[in-house]
Amino acid sequence: MLLSDAVKPLFAGTELRYPQFLPQCPVCTATASKELFVLRGFSHRQCRGCGFIFVNPRLSDEGARIYYNSEYYRQYCDNNERPINEVFGPYCRTFGPGLPDFVDRLRALCPRGRVVDVGCGLGALLASLPATDFERVGVEYNEAAARFAREHFGLRIVPDLADLRGAGTGFDLVTAIEVIEHVADPLACMQDLAQLLLPTGVLVVTTPNIGGLDYHLHGRQCAHFCAPSHVNFFTVETLTRLAARAGLQRQDYGYRGGVVSYVHWWRTRRADVDFWSPEAPTRNSANLVYRPRHGGPVILPAPQSLAPAATAGAARAPRLAFLRGLANRLLNGLFAQTQMIVVFRRAAG
Ligand SMILES: [Zn+2]
Repeated sequence: MLLSDAVKPLFAGTELRYPQFLPQCPVCTATASKELFVLRGFSHRQCRGCGFIFVNPRLSDEGARIYYNSEYYRQYCDNNERPINEVFGPYCRTFGPGLPDFVDRLRALCPRGRVVDVGCGLGALLASLPATDFERVGVEYNEAAARFAREHFGLRIVPDLADLRGAGTGFDLVTAIEVIEHVADPLACMQDLAQLLLPTGVLVVTTPNIGGLDYHLHGRQCAHFCAPSHVNFFTVETLTRLAARAGLQRQDYGYRGGVVSYVHWWRTRRADVDFWSPEAPTRNSANLVYRPRHGGPVILPAPQSLAPAATAGAARAPRLAFLRGLANRLLNGLFAQTQMIVVFRRAAG
């Protein structure tokens, strides 16, 4: 199934069938925005108040539910014969070889307690947190992915955030990995995440970084633009501002990126292509970035400013830790800062 086939049923002519129009910028509430470009029928706009880039109108919740339970994930595939764990690769490959490192960093922020992963996909992250230390819950509304997480990892998965309300205590650790760029109402999403937190809890959000080199090099060909999947495009600043509206305070942030991004840029520098289109001549470089099986694992630099894992940090000499931090900063400066990882806590008072 081609991506264009997945998008077609969402439109009647050029009109979106399930539109949700944002009357104002969810980050700063300004009402004025300018159109940057149209991709696959979706207008990508930039807020004149704060610079936030967003698709408007986007799919309503009803439309998104149809889209995400359709053949959506197949857009990444060449054929329909892949096993589900490959089809749901987008979640796994977000971390790929970096997953153990990311888990270490989560455990440095929260060594044990109740954890919920919102938009948990196949459950790879939750499954990496030991059941002896964590009471684990996942939220995933793609039924096939939820089933995989239950059957494969034995995880408790609920289809909706509403299923967690009134469940008694909140959570020590809340994660939303590559979720907020997809949601129809990002402010409501942030408020929901904030509500799940215990007063001492920590929220870890990862999302594509539109402030990174990717966007500046690629413009509309940047891989982040894959409407109707991605509709909110944050920088650390705009995400922090949105979180503040939900009563959250940024504690820390870091980036991940990859040199392969430059390969993509080099190959597409003269072409005006839709990165995600199956017809795109860049398909192979897309595979390189997003499908490690075609090109070997992509080595991602560690997030630069997250605290090192408690155990590893204690064993490491301070000078070594400093050099490692410096190296990470340099690497992240050189690389694309494709993804950001931001840590929030409830704002004081
Ligand atoms: Zn704004």
